[in-house]
Amino acid sequence: MTKDIATLSRTKEIIEKYGFKFKKSLGQNFLVDLNTLNNIVAEGQLTERTGVIEVGPGIGALTEQIAKRAGKVVAFEIDQRLIPVLEDTLSPYPNVQVIHEDVLKANLHAVIEKEFHDCDEIVVVANLPYYVTTPIIMHFLESGVRLDRIVIMMQKEVGDRISAKPSTKAYGSLSVAVQYYMDAHTAMIVPKTVFVPQPNVESAVIVLERKEQQEVIVRDESFFFFVVRGSFVQRRKTLLNNLQVSLEDGKAKKELILQACERANIDPRRRGETLTIEEFARLSNELYDDFF
Ligand code: SAM
Repeated sequence: MTKDIATLSRTKEIIEKYGFKFKKSLGQNFLVDLNTLNNIVAEGQLTERTGVIEVGPGIGALTEQIAKRAGKVVAFEIDQRLIPVLEDTLSPYPNVQVIHEDVLKANLHAVIEKEFHDCDEIVVVANLPYYVTTPIIMHFLESGVRLDRIVIMMQKEVGDRISAKPSTKAYGSLSVAVQYYMDAHTAMIVPKTVFVPQPNVESAVIVLERKEQQEVIVRDESFFFFVVRGSFVQRRKTLLNNLQVSLEDGKAKKELILQACERANIDPRRRGETLTIEEFARLSNELYDDFF
């Protein structure tokens, strides 16, 4: 039986066999620690009825461990050079399909419909390329596809922001943008030493869980996100200050902002970083008629 891909010796062997050179610009840091991989995969709670989408299989270290537990894996890899490598390393796993495509351009609805029709749940598991972490997460969340769980490794600093709660330093528009769609928590911190080559920063595995029911109702999502971003423009400033700058004619329409805050029962002297998602929803719903 061949050794797991995620060992230093097998990874080196594969890289040498194909003369592969890592591309920093594609965020290529491969995992070479089975323990870490098993912990990531365990967070996915995979069964043979689970369809998994993976982003960036690399040489297949994580894909292999997912394939052993899930019903089907579809993995998007942007780097053409890795396609023949993956055909070789993942040949023992008939339930894996590698698609040579930038995941940001992928039609997730079509892939799910075609590949996962007999799966009970759909989970994303990935060790993300760090140069493009946030766009990839937002691509999944904004696509509208029903994802039950997302288990993703990223740079710890971004993970902290995604899972942050109100009134903490890391809480900002990214926390609200992600937690609007799914519940977020940090599952584990991962040291640099489990990668080849080692990244410059510490990593974290973040788990996003589908909300049982949508907690907030907003009149218009794009306006809600606009108000959220506008409320964090200058973190040290009050909500009123930030909204006056970010809303159209905000300075002239100060009175309307104050009235909207009052109707939403939110003190305009608070800072954006203290507002919960539910409060942002109330505020944007009250501002909607005057500013959208
Ligand atoms: N999954 C492997 C592992 O854990 O060892 C490799 C992870 S490595 C951090 C990120 C992978 O994502 C690389 O293989 C890279 O080529 C690929 N990648 C980078 N940008 C991508 C994109 N936009 N779409 C799909 N794959 C991408």
